[in-house]
Amino acid sequence: MDKNVRVAIIGGGPAGLSAGMYLEKKGYENYVIYEKSDRVGGKCWSPTYKGKRYEMGAIMGVPSYYAVHDVEEFCGITHDGPKLNRNYKNSAGDVIEPFEPKKNIAKIPRLLKMKSQVKKFGEILETKYRGYDVNGHRGVAEGRCDGYAVTPGRERVQFPNPNLKDLALPFKTFCEKNGCELIQDIWIGPYTSFGYGYFDEIPAAYVLKYLDFQTTMNFVNVNLWTWKNGTQYIWECLDAKLKHSAKLNSNITKVERKDGKVFITVNGEVEEFDKLIVTAPLYCGDGNRGETNGFIDYADAREDEKALFSKIDYERYTVQAVTTKPENHPEISYYVFDNMVKERLGHLMVYYRRWKEDIDQMITTYALRTHKNMKEISYEECNKMVLDDLKTMHNPAETVENAWSVYYFPHVYTEDYASGWYDKVEAMQDKYDTFYAGEIMSFGDMDETAEYSRELVERFF
Ligand SMILES: Cc1cc2nc3c(=O)[nH]c(=O)nc-3n(C[C@H](O)[C@H](O)[C@H](O)COP(=O)(O)OP(=O)(O)OC[C@H]3O[C@@H](n4cnc5c(N)ncnc54)[C@H](O)[C@@H]3O)c2cc1C
Repeated sequence: MDKNVRVAIIGGGPAGLSAGMYLEKKGYENYVIYEKSDRVGGKCWSPTYKGKRYEMGAIMGVPSYYAVHDVEEFCGITHDGPKLNRNYKNSAGDVIEPFEPKKNIAKIPRLLKMKSQVKKFGEILETKYRGYDVNGHRGVAEGRCDGYAVTPGRERVQFPNPNLKDLALPFKTFCEKNGCELIQDIWIGPYTSFGYGYFDEIPAAYVLKYLDFQTTMNFVNVNLWTWKNGTQYIWECLDAKLKHSAKLNSNITKVERKDGKVFITVNGEVEEFDKLIVTAPLYCGDGNRGETNGFIDYADAREDEKALFSKIDYERYTVQAVTTKPENHPEISYYVFDNMVKERLGHLMVYYRRWKEDIDQMITTYALRTHKNMKEISYEECNKMVLDDLKTMHNPAETVENAWSVYYFPHVYTEDYASGWYDKVEAMQDKYDTFYAGEIMSFGDMDETAEYSRELVERFF
């Protein structure tokens, strides 16, 4: 592509800013990033309280976050945050050690079985499901691996593997089919509690492309990255380093694609481009949720875009930042496995104590409000349930300092995944001088979205 091509990027989160970085690295400097809010980072939001930044959005990474590492190198920063530590409680608020055989004598047979299933699972992922872990979903529904290896070199890999079609199954079914149902006890911690939905509804592809075997072991062993100034700082640094920082407070009211050009009406002015990269939500449902609107609402969406994007659903993930009285401050972060089942929708699944040395700091709480076959729990109701749960946990909140419920982890369900949703969308890349990137195209975490932007630039520019 001509290096002078004029590129508009919608969204100043990890995907949009990374797209700018990778374009620049490849010699494309004629880009503009439009961000609708007054800050960059999107769901990496790290506000300050008493001189320290706490996390309302993304918290952590793992050593295989190669794209995030590219950003760190580009900006001269590193993952210098507090070490994560955690413990477990049951829904009655008692501290438990669910994986410690000595504390769970009656459960020893199950724990042993789980251990052997984890080993078996690791083996079948590397053999039967070889290629399962590449970023993005191209070819999966057709039984092909088509992506870039999750290694520092990130080589292009393409080969047939009909077994990959199983990744369209709900993760629960996938585990059962492979005789490894007990591994869900391990995978659920960094999955459901992190807002990515329930294993009976979410296709295995999403679970395993994020929580590939190695990444899951990093979670188990708490081999994790955090950033002292918060994850938002990564993207603030990138924004400052780019040749063209994101244009904040950009209100896009119209996108028109005609005659090989893209016309964007932003803050009342029409701007002309050759290509468009959309990293912001493509579709947000019936519009009654009031959280955000999607590309198909403000763009001249074509019939194929509308038909495909209307299949996207997303999670409503709710975060509150609370203070406590000193005597009620948790000594560590806690996971509540009992609350990670759909029957306990809306309850507190995890709460995070970020600053070990400082009890006059925020505790953040996490809960989900949706399951595809259940009535959504309202934001207000969910927040109340979580505050009640904190009392049960013996860590009652004193004040609520911050809260939000985010448009989280856009995805499609089994039927659409299996019928090739991703290959249909991938075939539309550049069809209307438009490229689709961001969470839906890979997975809802910082690295997969940034990596998808890297690959998009690699493949098309
Ligand atoms: C509570 C929580 C915990 C998380 N924990 C982790 C974690 O520990 N590790 C991890 O890797 N990830 C985590 N994530 C996920 C991670 O933050 C996201 O996956 C990542 O930020 C996605 O990047 P993105 O650029 O695709 O989207 P976003 O971050 O959502 O950014 C999209 C941007 O587009 C902007 N935008 C939207 N509409 C428009 C429009 N019409 N015009 C212009 N701009 C628009 C938005 O304002 C936003 O800035 C977490 C997220 C949350 C909310």
